[in-house]
Amino acid sequence: MTQTSVNDIEFRSVTKNYGAVTAVKNIELAVPKGAFLALLGPSGCGKTTCLRMIGGFEQPSEGEVMIAGTPMRGVPAYRRPVNMVFQHYALFPHFDVENNVAYGLRQLRPRLPAAEITKRVASALEMVRLGGFAKRRIHELSGGQQQRVALARALVNRPSVLLLDEPLAALDKNLRTAMQIELQTIQRELGITFVLVTHDQEEALSMSDLVCVMNAGRIVQLAPPQEVYDNPADLFVAGFVGKTNRLEGEIEARGTDRCMVRLGNGLTITAPVKRELSTGKAILSVRPEAIALSTATDATANVLKGRVTNRIFLGSSVEYCVAVPGIGDVLVTTERQPAETGLHDPGTEVALGFDPQTVHIFSA
Ligand code: ATP
Repeated sequence: MTQTSVNDIEFRSVTKNYGAVTAVKNIELAVPKGAFLALLGPSGCGKTTCLRMIGGFEQPSEGEVMIAGTPMRGVPAYRRPVNMVFQHYALFPHFDVENNVAYGLRQLRPRLPAAEITKRVASALEMVRLGGFAKRRIHELSGGQQQRVALARALVNRPSVLLLDEPLAALDKNLRTAMQIELQTIQRELGITFVLVTHDQEEALSMSDLVCVMNAGRIVQLAPPQEVYDNPADLFVAGFVGKTNRLEGEIEARGTDRCMVRLGNGLTITAPVKRELSTGKAILSVRPEAIALSTATDATANVLKGRVTNRIFLGSSVEYCVAVPGIGDVLVTTERQPAETGLHDPGTEVALGFDPQTVHIFSA
């Protein structure tokens, strides 16, 4: 017996053209029920277009968007089991919190009884921890509280999918971090499928349980955050999600599972083969935190010698830029130990060591 599980959202070969512009091309996507999906990618890659096609604000030029197993072609936005939270919350400033949240419910036909509306609004405000704020005016709320009103308004008619278009972009960093945790908690409590559009890779990694990395209208990787970070599908993902060093080299020898690459300074690195590789030029991708920086001068394998050119103090960590002859600038991040006193000054000769297991080889 085969078991089929219904995906909450599915894209089947979806393409969207705006005149001569192809915004998304041939997208295949399946989002399980109750997942928190982040659509992540640079400006113009097609994230919002995907979100709007789920919401019913745009129609695919080709292919089909399905929600809970039902094709959505021809289903208008207001008939979809979906709601959306926008970047600018679009609240009614002259209404109080309660009336903002009740607004959508009052438009429903057949009408809901007033007592039912009151009950649902109170429950939505509890969900976003604004229980005592029903009578407050919008302008009497902080940015984070306004964001939560927008969230309550989107949750009040109990959608099965919630779409969030950069909902935290207007908040300052501390508030944004607090709201990230809160949104994640609310999503887990409610079990609703969330689709978040963001170009902030930290936000995507920290909040979602599935990251969909997009570039130029296509999906380049769909995987849990840790997988995307540790095992980027290509050089674009490696560079876009987190920081990475790109070291150029030439493939010298290749086995089925290991590969030897000669770098610009003559040093060879033998690293595991994790993806398709052709012969010739290669690029090694190494995370800044996977490099150990020391002032030891004894030569060992997989050690690059260089000179610190810049140091950025980040509080709990320190970021160094190290110029390596024949290779170029290498970025290194070191955790700062509480007892550590000596930071390496610009001009210091240093050795950079790394474990080949942490290196990714891509064809150039
Ligand atoms: P951003 O992060 O800047 O919001 P995005 O990844 O959400 O970008 P989309 O808004 O989906 O990108 O746009 C994808 C492409 O489609 C872009 O090239 C954009 O210029 C184009 N596009 C989007 N909407 C329209 C439209 N209504 N008419 C014409 N072109 C459009």
